[in-house]
Amino acid sequence: MEIRESEQLFSRAKELMPGGVNSPVRAFQSVGGTPRFIHRAKDQYLYDEDGNAYIDYIGSWGPMILGHNPDFVLDAVWDQLQYGLSYGAATALEVEMAELITEMVPYVEMIRMVNSGTEAVMSAIRAARGFTGRDKIVKFEGCYHGHADAMLVKAGSGVMTAGIPDSSGVPRGCTADTLSAVYNDLDSVQQLFEQYPEEIACVIVEPVAANMGVVVPKEGFLQGLRQMCNKYGALLIFDEVITGFRLLANGAVGYFGITPDLVTYGKIIGGGMPVGAYGGRRDIMQLVAPLGSVYQAGTLSGNPVAMRAGITQLRYLKAHPEVYQQVDSLSTRLRSGLTDIIQQHHAACTVNGVGSLSCLYFTAEPVTDYASAKQADIAAFRQYFHFMLDHGSYFGPSQFESIFVSNAHTMRDIEKTLSDAEDYFSGK
Ligand SMILES: *Cc1c(COP(=O)(O)O)cnc(C)c1O
Repeated sequence: MEIRESEQLFSRAKELMPGGVNSPVRAFQSVGGTPRFIHRAKDQYLYDEDGNAYIDYIGSWGPMILGHNPDFVLDAVWDQLQYGLSYGAATALEVEMAELITEMVPYVEMIRMVNSGTEAVMSAIRAARGFTGRDKIVKFEGCYHGHADAMLVKAGSGVMTAGIPDSSGVPRGCTADTLSAVYNDLDSVQQLFEQYPEEIACVIVEPVAANMGVVVPKEGFLQGLRQMCNKYGALLIFDEVITGFRLLANGAVGYFGITPDLVTYGKIIGGGMPVGAYGGRRDIMQLVAPLGSVYQAGTLSGNPVAMRAGITQLRYLKAHPEVYQQVDSLSTRLRSGLTDIIQQHHAACTVNGVGSLSCLYFTAEPVTDYASAKQADIAAFRQYFHFMLDHGSYFGPSQFESIFVSNAHTMRDIEKTLSDAEDYFSGK
């Protein structure tokens, strides 16, 4: 595979941007080699600057559940452009977006649009602290909630692969109130509540942890969190930046039947544009400025072009529940195919996943939390990753990222990827 253009761009990029990128995991640091510079994307494919095509299993890290550049989303964006890019004033589109989300997810009574998942989480935590008058927060090791200071404690995603336990530049005071618990381990949460019964403002959790690979909540885990939060007067926040509108049209609530107090969104709700949101109970959201005392603002928040893209994608998802059956069945086939291959070749691997989120871990042991995810053999993943990339399947360049499948993928794509994986494990 010829990648000369990407190589040249990467060497220019490295002179000008840290690691040559604007977000760490894109730099291929944990797998080595040259990141592909992407020229365009359509449906299930990415095309790099050398003209190579890849079946894309990243989907911009989640937003592209309908595949890249669906014509009807593109048409809506073209149409919106003629009216202007930003006004810094209220629009009908924001009302439509708020109506759509609160209709699709009924426990979301009020919502605030922001520009990224990081901002959504940071703001939801502020609202939770403002509402409860408490400072401490509980997060889980290996869950990623964006890069706000308070959240960079045992975080997943790029922080996990880079091997940075924490980030430098975060004052100790900023994380002093961030408590870490073990995913899928209710006792670890109970201990924190017993230690600080009246100080914990909220528990924030990815209802499916999708930033340490993919770790599915054990039966009763989310329910246990709900009960503990109720008992100790803390709020439960679902960080649905990945799972929102991906597991089902109403996200994790529909899937697991547990209702949080607040929820954060990102990725899918922007349809590929930079959008985030947080929302939930009216009595909590009424505390947000200008109604209440929790300050939060944004120059470009609710940007009209971004709203139009997001609304168009969400409307489609609402009207086409079969999208979820489709991505689930493609992913189920991917997982069962990979499971067959690793069994047949006695590979020390484990397949995790739910819905359209999957992960192939290079460890034979079950992966249920951060510690077990960390057992994965990074060097083995690296080899597999490059083999698959060279054969045209583009996975997240890290052991600890999810495989995302879109509605534009076909069973043929999945079978092609499985057949390459079969070649890899059989040593062809
Ligand atoms: C991606 C992600 C974030 C951060 O979103 P950005 O838009 O990258 O700031 C937060 N939480 C979860 C669960 C995520 O996957």
